[in-house]
Amino acid sequence: MDRNSTLEPEDWQDFRKLAHDALDNAISHLETRGNLPVWQRVPDDIRASLGAELPIMGSDIASLNQRIVRDFLPYDIGNTHPRFFGWVHGSGTVQGLIPDIFTAAMNANLGGRDHLANEVEKQVIDWCRCVFGLPDTAGGLVVSGTSMATLIALKTALNKCGGTELRDQGLAAMEKPLVGYASAEAHSCIARSFDILGLGKNALRPIPVDADFRMDPKALEAAIIGDLANGITPFCIIATAGSVNVGSIDPLNALAEIAEKHCLWLHVDGAFGALAVLSNPLKPLLAGIEKADSLAFDFHKWMHVNYDAGMVLVRNAEDQRQAFSERPDYLGAANRGLAAGNPWFCEYGPELSRGFRALKIWYQMAHFGLERIGAQIAQNCLQAQHLATRVAAEIELEGLAPTALNITCFRFNPGGLDETRLDRINGEIVIRLQETGVAAPSTTKIDGRLAIRVNITNHRTQFADLDLLADTVLALGRELV
Ligand SMILES: *Cc1c(COP(=O)(O)O)cnc(C)c1O
Repeated sequence: MDRNSTLEPEDWQDFRKLAHDALDNAISHLETRGNLPVWQRVPDDIRASLGAELPIMGSDIASLNQRIVRDFLPYDIGNTHPRFFGWVHGSGTVQGLIPDIFTAAMNANLGGRDHLANEVEKQVIDWCRCVFGLPDTAGGLVVSGTSMATLIALKTALNKCGGTELRDQGLAAMEKPLVGYASAEAHSCIARSFDILGLGKNALRPIPVDADFRMDPKALEAAIIGDLANGITPFCIIATAGSVNVGSIDPLNALAEIAEKHCLWLHVDGAFGALAVLSNPLKPLLAGIEKADSLAFDFHKWMHVNYDAGMVLVRNAEDQRQAFSERPDYLGAANRGLAAGNPWFCEYGPELSRGFRALKIWYQMAHFGLERIGAQIAQNCLQAQHLATRVAAEIELEGLAPTALNITCFRFNPGGLDETRLDRINGEIVIRLQETGVAAPSTTKIDGRLAIRVNITNHRTQFADLDLLADTVLALGRELV
């Protein structure tokens, strides 16, 4: 081998042409995505081709690109299609291809040091701080998503309660067991954080919800008082702003008041719902969010930044630093040169090497502007209402929960069928919608009943797509009865 070999292309002109073709293919894919089925199962031969042995010798770019365009692009999850309504997936944007290219070109590591990329992340954090009305003591971190943001926020809350002793000695340093509170409708990533932090999932107390699926503040306060009486130490309340099942928003002001009264950390899980503050008509629903000690939310859901991108914001950035900071000799600070720069983001979370996710977030916000993103969010909520109205108007359809935001849960119910049969029929309707590629809602259980759950965090969805969905559910349901 040549002693001066590198991985650079042999012929830059050739490479340029192939890269331009790849970009063209990616743009065409998105331009015509709506003409393909929402979802298609990956064919067996393509699955098998990905079970090949180790690539000891390389392949040329032209054939790899061809393979991706033919065998990979058509089999995405479907969230780039106008009728993807499952779980909570953002739909991404074609414009987002551009920052991803530049991100790869800069190949920046945002663990620390003095370079431009960190300034972009600082800007994005500060923009979000302003969006949510947090004070200028606040800081945060761009992360992979709300699961990671939640873990960082809850570790910060835990260390705020247990101090450096807890960091040195672990939970053994605590004289009394620690507990936190979230609504029974809270996302599973919260219990998972309790598990990862060594608190155990049972240390997260599920608080009952009202008829609108919002945490009941009276039940919360009763639980806190009960735990205190039993010698247990409450340390945090986790409010949900946009629950995953139905999009409900906990009464944030009431929870903030209870948190203040009992000196507890208030964390808000606003994975998708928090960004409704970008819409003036929706903003009042989130009143009180500015009182959070920490907030977790995603850019890859309702801001349609391409996966993956989320954020944790902490009211007092120093609390977050105290929970994570480690600066060994080889990561020492300097006043000048490359080792200068402040903050070093590695002091605010578990990761040292960190990619430049901030660029695609910055680009999305700067290109579309917050007003336009907020208008898309409001449109999705109107679309969920449109579907709810249609459901209410059809005798064979039954709404299963109020539409608080962008989620409508309903089922096919022509009357005269028992619950077991209804669950089976509605489960089958959803699978057939997915397998025929017409639409992709998901399912959940509402009060024990299987619901067709339609979540709209999709800027490509048109009102007519929801009529098509309702028509197809009716047709499939009638066929199955
Ligand atoms: C999606 C979601 C999460 C988890 O976020 P990820 O970005 O998938 O890690 C947490 N809470 C709620 C309410 C969610 O919708």
